[in-house]
Amino acid sequence: MESIDIKQGVNINEVSQEMYKLVSELYPICRSITGDGLRKTLQLVQQHIPLELHEVPTGTQVFDWTVPKEWNIKDAYIKNAKGEKIVDFQKLNLHVVNYSIPIHEKVSLEELKKHLISIPDKPDWVPYRTSYYKESWGFCISHNQLLSLTDEEYEVCIDSSLEAGHLTYGEYYIKGRKSDEILISCHSCHPSLANDNLAGIALSTFLAKHLSQLDLEFSYRFIFIPGTIGSIVWLALNDSNVDKIKHGLVVTCVGDGGKSHYKKSRCGDAEIDKAVIHVLQRSGADYEIQEFSPYGYDERQYCSPGFNLPVGCFMRSPHGTYAEYHTSADNLDLVKPESMADSLEKFLSTLQILESNKKYINQNPKCEPQLGKRGLYSAIGGQTDTKKQEMAILWVLNYSDGNYSLLDIAEKSGFDFDLIKKTADTLLEFDLLKPS
Ligand SMILES: [Zn+2]
Repeated sequence: MESIDIKQGVNINEVSQEMYKLVSELYPICRSITGDGLRKTLQLVQQHIPLELHEVPTGTQVFDWTVPKEWNIKDAYIKNAKGEKIVDFQKLNLHVVNYSIPIHEKVSLEELKKHLISIPDKPDWVPYRTSYYKESWGFCISHNQLLSLTDEEYEVCIDSSLEAGHLTYGEYYIKGRKSDEILISCHSCHPSLANDNLAGIALSTFLAKHLSQLDLEFSYRFIFIPGTIGSIVWLALNDSNVDKIKHGLVVTCVGDGGKSHYKKSRCGDAEIDKAVIHVLQRSGADYEIQEFSPYGYDERQYCSPGFNLPVGCFMRSPHGTYAEYHTSADNLDLVKPESMADSLEKFLSTLQILESNKKYINQNPKCEPQLGKRGLYSAIGGQTDTKKQEMAILWVLNYSDGNYSLLDIAEKSGFDFDLIKKTADTLLEFDLLKPS
């Protein structure tokens, strides 16, 4: 009857180093919403978990969208009149506007400038830009470099292809005792950006690896998808099965040193919302809760009105709010193993609540049972002081009428979920509670 300790066997320091190592391995790959970079990324994840790869053909209709052509790139550069490479895709893949069509020609500075993007406010950084749904080409460079360009002829080359192919996504299902599912979703389509995408991929990978070793109540579904189009594809292909999803989290930007942010599901008071908020409130660290909004990551699709799934979004510094966001400064220095470790611990604490947040029935509901004669006080023992234990027993017994979950009781009493859960486990042993 007793629910599992989800943190058993986790060496958080070791895992944080492994997560960081995976982020480093994935960092150089040029990912996009389709193509070999995305495939290679998912194949590297397969070295840790048996991720199933799905290939969805170009042209597949998914609700109001169509799976786009597949984009691949071998090389790209800009050479000056002397033939020197002044911009080199091999050195930084952000230099090419993601999804640029192939081009190889000589252009004037004036013409070239129409295809260059920089950030005047951050003159040393290279921006990240995409052009998925409009066929065009472009380069991203630092603003300082843009200012240094002289009036001469340039050779531009983008050795890319945009052809009918597939959109790839990865899925890993861990079967629990129930068919009810917890969905964990991360986007895997950004090229060399460490916090915005790689940290989420790494956390999801090692969380899945750990959970796969446990005997779990819920079934878990991990999906590694290109942002927006990936969740739309997944929802379209799984439309008839989504009612199994009882809780879900979008994982993104989980590696920077900022405080934790949780964006609530569209319903706003789903169990996942309450569980994450409980964990953050008791973490002892600063945090922020955001109401749902119809922009951001894939929660937009999961929480579109036709689905309205109980899916929130966990992040540290939210997208668009940190200076390094979508620039070359979102690199391996921005992501910290200790921040990833902290994020992972918060995920585990949240899942611990979901796994054990049950409702019980007090077997002795008419007046309080006499606890002393049952030896209950010594049974609960441990670090918690006696008064607190006694109070926890009274709270659990009183509210275990089949209507209140353990998390409800934790919230009402002001005690940690952990104490309430342990108390309920003991009361079960003493036959004072039964499952609802
Ligand atoms: Zn992004």
